[in-house]
Amino acid sequence: MMQKKRTIIRACVGLFLIICLLSSAGCMAGRRGMHIGQIRNHACPRADTLLQAMPAFRAKEMGAVKIYSTAQVQEWLRFGSRSATYPNDRKIVFITIDDGPHSQHGMKMIETLKAHNIAATFFYIGGYVAGREAQVKLALENGNSVGLHSDSHNYRYLYPGRSGNADNIIQDLKNLLQRYQWALGQAPEFTAYRYPGGHMSWKNLSEADSRLGSMGLAWLDWNVSTGDSVREDILTVEMIMNNVRATTERISDKNVVVLLMHETEAATAEALPEIIRYYQDQGYEFGILDSPKGIRTQ
Ligand SMILES: [Zn+2]
Repeated sequence: MMQKKRTIIRACVGLFLIICLLSSAGCMAGRRGMHIGQIRNHACPRADTLLQAMPAFRAKEMGAVKIYSTAQVQEWLRFGSRSATYPNDRKIVFITIDDGPHSQHGMKMIETLKAHNIAATFFYIGGYVAGREAQVKLALENGNSVGLHSDSHNYRYLYPGRSGNADNIIQDLKNLLQRYQWALGQAPEFTAYRYPGGHMSWKNLSEADSRLGSMGLAWLDWNVSTGDSVREDILTVEMIMNNVRATTERISDKNVVVLLMHETEAATAEALPEIIRYYQDQGYEFGILDSPKGIRTQ
């Protein structure tokens, strides 16, 4: 009888250990971010504090940094002063940082923004989010916005023959949202999407645009660039600042600046304090996008 009892206890403990092992392996697979199919239906629920940290919920506490709807900023970029909502009396710069999360330079940028008491919009790539959930959380907790920048960042898949493939773009987007669902337990309600390479670089995107729109997303390009995606052998702070000044001076409607930079470059992280100072000296306020603006309910 005693022997039978011990066997039952051993079997229960063994089963418990196997379940623990399997569930942690599911989390690990997702963290490495390799196979979206493997992580589907797995959720590591640690989203509660993160969801409360979203910038839209903290709008009144953001002080100098104001939150604007992505669709509105898109309209300002496209139509400039002709837009009825164009803030002629104000100069606003939106710092947008693509291609992260990058653990080293991206973290440095989050710290720099915090030290200057401002915020930016990070357009993260889904494949890099997995394993860096803490960084996404930190960016949001510091009042920054997060937009979507595809799951794969694969030009040939998204734009075969330089022409937008709406089915691939939307499938890639669904993979990305699935990663957030897995990583955060609940999927945030994003409003901002940035096409890898920029909307301006590709043909035939109108179908993908309207499908993004039906998912509550507006795409956003930029009108000023640090030029840091041109992979120079030696990218310096001086080169970045020259690009920022030159492209800012070139735009006709200077009231709204959407600045493109990448968190993959050490020099860009190093240049960020100088970039902030430059726009402050020019009388700009800092703005972020309303992304995410809550939690997806369906
Ligand atoms: Zn990119």
